[in-house]
Amino acid sequence: MHIVQVGMEYDVLRENNKIANSNYRLLKGHGIRAIELMGSIGSGKTSLIIKMAERMRNKGLRVCAIAGDVTGEDDQKRMKESGLDAVNCNTGHECHLDANLVKKSLDSMDLDKYDVIFIENVGNLVCPADFPLGADYRVVVISTTEGDDMVRKHHDIFLHSDIAVLNKIDIADAVGVDPEVIIGDYRKLTGGLKNMYTCSTRTEEGMDEIIAMLGL
Ligand code: MG
Ligand code: ZN
Repeated sequence: MHIVQVGMEYDVLRENNKIANSNYRLLKGHGIRAIELMGSIGSGKTSLIIKMAERMRNKGLRVCAIAGDVTGEDDQKRMKESGLDAVNCNTGHECHLDANLVKKSLDSMDLDKYDVIFIENVGNLVCPADFPLGADYRVVVISTTEGDDMVRKHHDIFLHSDIAVLNKIDIADAVGVDPEVIIGDYRKLTGGLKNMYTCSTRTEEGMDEIIAMLGL
């Protein structure tokens, strides 16, 4: 847990925001578009990154990724096997990435080589909301397999993100989930102003719409 006491939490968040701003400026200085993905374990963040990166590379964009996890290199390996340049970023104990960890990863990369960077956060729908990393877009990914109550249970992450994606739309019926319930909750939470994107990283339906939303 990152919260020790109220005063300390404030300092930690303020320091994080400062570094996030400098990450943002660093990325802008290199002309890089940065997209952060947040979501539960198993929601399909890594698959979504791999599939979007493939499409972007086909358009001639130079793409890379930071794979954030508590331990292990599984996601980084999957990314690399797909042909995506990726660096690994382990938090050790923390259940979220913070701006300083991302800064260290960025410092280890040759940023002149890329147009787009994906940052995959640790699988978690709670504290990543509090820790911006300096990305242009914060994308939250949920999947039909998580049930129809994710928006009702996790207001903060949806309110702190720019784009919401509902993955595994192809198996909604099989897992007994009505996507309209989730989409309706999201519309209500965002005052009817924002639509949730639906997709399947397996069938690849809905992928083009998300990439268009990102302006890429
Ligand atoms: Mg992953
Ligand atoms: Zn955390």
